[in-house]
Amino acid sequence: MSTSCTPERHDAPRAGHAYRLAARQSPSQQTFVKVGDAMFGASRPVLIAGPCAVETRDQVLAAADAVRVAGAQLLRGGAFKPRTSPYSFQGLGEAGLQLLAEARARTGLPLVTEVLEPEQVPLVAAYADMLQVGARNMANFALLRRAGQSGLPVLLKRGMSATVEEWLMAAEYILAEGNPNVVLCERGIRSFDPLLRFTLDLNAVPLVRELSHLPIIVDPSHGTGRRSLVQTMAVAAIAAGAHGLMVEMHPDRRAALCDGDQSITPEQLAELARTAHAVSDALAPAALDLAAD
Ligand code: PEP
Ligand code: MN
Repeated sequence: MSTSCTPERHDAPRAGHAYRLAARQSPSQQTFVKVGDAMFGASRPVLIAGPCAVETRDQVLAAADAVRVAGAQLLRGGAFKPRTSPYSFQGLGEAGLQLLAEARARTGLPLVTEVLEPEQVPLVAAYADMLQVGARNMANFALLRRAGQSGLPVLLKRGMSATVEEWLMAAEYILAEGNPNVVLCERGIRSFDPLLRFTLDLNAVPLVRELSHLPIIVDPSHGTGRRSLVQTMAVAAIAAGAHGLMVEMHPDRRAALCDGDQSITPEQLAELARTAHAVSDALAPAALDLAAD
C-alpha cells in the first residue's frame, strides 16, 4: 500500500457537479437557517439539548424545563429511534411526538426529532420544527428527498463511515428538492479505539466551512460516548468554528432507556452552555479575521 501524500486530491474537491448547491461559491457566502428564535450560521452558537429518546411524560417535561433554564434554544428527543439491535427500545412513536409537542407548548422551545423512513415524514413533520436525519440514514436517498420536500429545516447528521464529500452530496439531495434549510451535524466517525464510542472528527468543522456555505454543528455526545468528555469536546467544537452543538441531557440519566452513559445532567448542561458561549465570545474577533481573508 502506498503511504505517499496526495495533496492534489485534497486540494481539488469535485464540487463542480457533485454538490453544486452545497458548495461554497464565495468566501463570504453563509447560509442561515432559522428555527424558532435560533439562527444557525450566525456568530452566536445554537445549542440543542434533550434526551436521546422520549421515554415518559415526566422525563420529557423535566428535560424541556432544564433545556430552557440552561438557555439552549431547541429541544431534542427521539420518538422513533434507530437502534442497532431490533430488541432495544425503539421509541414511543407518535405518542412520543405528542409528548414533545406538550413540552414545546410548555416551554416555547422548538423541536428537532428524528425521522427514520420516507413514509414517516408527513407524521413527524406535523409535530417537528426541524427534521433530524440520523447517521444511519445519511445515505437513505429516498428519505433525504422526502425530507427536502417537507419544507422543514433538516438537521443532517454525518454517517459514521461517510467522507465529508459524501455527506455534502447527501445534503445536496435535500437542497435539490428546493429546500435550502440544511444544517450539518458532525457526530463522530468509526475508528478503532474501544474506549470511545466514536471519534469526533473536528477536522470536519473547518473543512466543511471551507467547502460549503451550510451551517455545521457538532454532537459531542455520540461523538465520544462518554459523559466525562462531552463538555471538553463541546468547547473544542466551538473553538473549531462550529455554529452550534447538539447534546444529550437526561434529568435522571441512571434511568435512561437509551444512551445514559453519554448523557449529561441538567446542571452540566447549564455549565456547558455558559462555557460554550464564553469561548465563542472570546473567539469572535478571530472569526472576523478569518472571514476577511
Ligand atoms: C441521535 O441523535 O439520537 C442519534 C441516534 O444520533 P446518530 O444518528 O448520530 O447516531
Ligand atoms: Mn442517542
